[in-house]
Amino acid sequence: MIETAGSRITTIVRFSGLKPLYKKVPPQWLPAYEAHIRVVERQVAVVAAWVLLITVIFYQFTYELRLAHRPDLWLTELAFRTPVLLSALLTLLAHYTGKPMCRSLYLLRVMGLSVMTMILALFLVHYNGVSADTYQITSGMVISFFGVAILSVRGLREWWLLFALPLAIFALVAWARGLALTEMLPFIFDPLVMMVIGIVMSEALRQLRAGEFLARQQLREQATTDQLTGLLNRRAMHQLLQQEHARAQRYETRYSLILGDLDRFKRVNDRYGHNVGDIVLQETARRLGSHMRAQDALCRWGGEEILMLLPETGLEGAKQVAEKIRLSLSDEPILAGEHCVPQTISLGVTSCHGRDDIESAIKRADDALYQAKENGRNRTEAIASPCSEPVSPNIRPA
Ligand code: GH3
Ligand code: MG
Ligand code: MG
Repeated sequence: MIETAGSRITTIVRFSGLKPLYKKVPPQWLPAYEAHIRVVERQVAVVAAWVLLITVIFYQFTYELRLAHRPDLWLTELAFRTPVLLSALLTLLAHYTGKPMCRSLYLLRVMGLSVMTMILALFLVHYNGVSADTYQITSGMVISFFGVAILSVRGLREWWLLFALPLAIFALVAWARGLALTEMLPFIFDPLVMMVIGIVMSEALRQLRAGEFLARQQLREQATTDQLTGLLNRRAMHQLLQQEHARAQRYETRYSLILGDLDRFKRVNDRYGHNVGDIVLQETARRLGSHMRAQDALCRWGGEEILMLLPETGLEGAKQVAEKIRLSLSDEPILAGEHCVPQTISLGVTSCHGRDDIESAIKRADDALYQAKENGRNRTEAIASPCSEPVSPNIRPA
């Protein structure tokens, strides 16, 4: 625990060089990064859907204002535009009803590809040699290439799918229709230029987003981590306790708390100095962390006090963990510089149920810890929740 929390920050500090920021997201943050990207994807999909809906309807109903207007093709054009309109409407419907039918990434792909197919189809029906009408249609590609480039939140893979593939198909179909490469170039020159700009912009946006994500995660980490030990701080633990308690209430599960306090720690500071005291605290955190499961949480509750939260654990299980923790300190002195510091810990254990309340659970753990101190230190005492299983004899130090 201490190692992961501490190393996360150092990982960020080490970020340097030309590697794109999104490739520098540490593995433990990848699920959060994926969730962040999905939120961005969803926002981008909604903006894209509105833009497409408005522009495509505008083009359909203002054909007489445009150069390439062909009243006889009104229905044909509408048919080509229908997939774009439908995919945009579907995206908006999914967003505003709060019922996502599928991932926004797929909706973005469908929108991007239907725009490109629409322009390709319009080009084919309107093409009558190199004319102003046809230019107007291919210049529509500029808008879509540019737009989709900004929308590409997933990098080159999406770019191939949304830009390169449709453009290749466009060139192929135009060539099959008898358009030589030299004739085709004027049509695809602008889209090609915009494609390059699109790549640069989408890459810049991806970097910005990744940078923003990393900075936010780092701040979150700092706000919830104790600087000296790398353990969670008291505020973060309070949040976790509330979550776990709510879960226990809802699912009628149980959890346990272990409150620990280093024995005679003032003497360590007085004898070896504050720096050695700090090293002892860090090593204690490391040893305690090594006895945790992934779902457990460990925090620095006060100066030399720790609090451990063990979800889905009854009093007996928690007492066993507390004993392991106690022995991990008492069995081996802590090496701090040239000093070998013997250090013990006293622990108070309690089990909790949804019918309890958090404050009285913490109070029970504190009372148990007080008993441990009173009974001679370097020991574990336990107090069961008043609404839980009977307490077995407390585990005593050997
Ligand atoms: P007891 O067995 O009764 O707990 O005795 P104790 O000496 O540990 O008593 P107490 O809990 O009152 O003392 C806590 C000491 O922990 C006092 C304080 O100087 C020290 N301490 C608190 N935070 C830190 C820290 O960050 N670094 C160092 N080096 N010492 C700390
Ligand atoms: Mg204390
Ligand atoms: Mg103490």
